[in-house]
Amino acid sequence: MCYINNLKLEKGSKQNIMLPVVNYDLELPVCVIKGEEGGPVVLISAGVHGAEYIGIETAITISRELKPADIKGTILFLLVANPTAAHSYTRRFVPEDGKNLNRMFPGKKEGTLSEKIAYTMEKELQSQADYYIDLHSGDTSERVMSFVYYAGVAKEEVSKRSRLMAEATGMAVRVKSNATTGSYNYAAIQGVPSILMERGGQGAFQPEELESYRQEVKGVLAHLGVLKEVPLPENQAQKEILTAIYIDSESQGFWYPTKQPGDSFVQGELLGSVKDVWGNELQAVYGEYDGIVLYETVSMGIGEGDSLIAYGK
Ligand SMILES: [Zn+2]
Repeated sequence: MCYINNLKLEKGSKQNIMLPVVNYDLELPVCVIKGEEGGPVVLISAGVHGAEYIGIETAITISRELKPADIKGTILFLLVANPTAAHSYTRRFVPEDGKNLNRMFPGKKEGTLSEKIAYTMEKELQSQADYYIDLHSGDTSERVMSFVYYAGVAKEEVSKRSRLMAEATGMAVRVKSNATTGSYNYAAIQGVPSILMERGGQGAFQPEELESYRQEVKGVLAHLGVLKEVPLPENQAQKEILTAIYIDSESQGFWYPTKQPGDSFVQGELLGSVKDVWGNELQAVYGEYDGIVLYETVSMGIGEGDSLIAYGK
């Protein structure tokens, strides 16, 4: 039996609910669709990083198109987890406290806004879910190749089912995540098979990208048996990345990447460099092994500690 904000969800219903964040004057938009027939409860969240708009629009699009008659079980859509960032074009953080919501789980009832949003998501949504899909993209300053993370730190069965969800996206690359504090990582540790999907970036997207994202998410819903009449996507040979490397900037400067997301490179190849305004090299990033660029910052001006590039083997 599902309840959101103490509201019982009836079979064969579709409801839009504004979910109050605990102890804070902010509400999160949630759409709930419950089929007539029983089945799993799937949580789909978007906008944990508020300016990753293609994830938000994908969640909105799917929540609008599906009717209770189309599904078995329940889908909980958290359409925008970090609304103030979404409406202020703020990269990565919750503007009120400057924290990365995706590092705040399980959150705190008495904390800053990020911690309170995490607490609310965990208590009201994650705790009711049998499966969880978190939709991201490159940030306003980033672009990503399309790929999917699955929770690698969890009970073996949970991690395995997370991997099968990742395969069902049909995306070309999946990455095993060893993180523990992300929204989906935390859910997996609690026993909920979970994935995080990435596509696009720079605060914009083309209609074709939206359509691809929509199909990939629906592929997972079909795999989980929630969507009644959706053909499973053709399973292309998905590559798995077990080790990913994340490089941050050691200083403020200008960043000159040499590769695009999705590009391959060989061990020792230059992936980009940070220079000062005079052209002096402050940091050079070389591939530690033959690999593929997962995402990178594309805006030139960067600060100390900013993410430059992530790549996998
Ligand atoms: Zn993100």
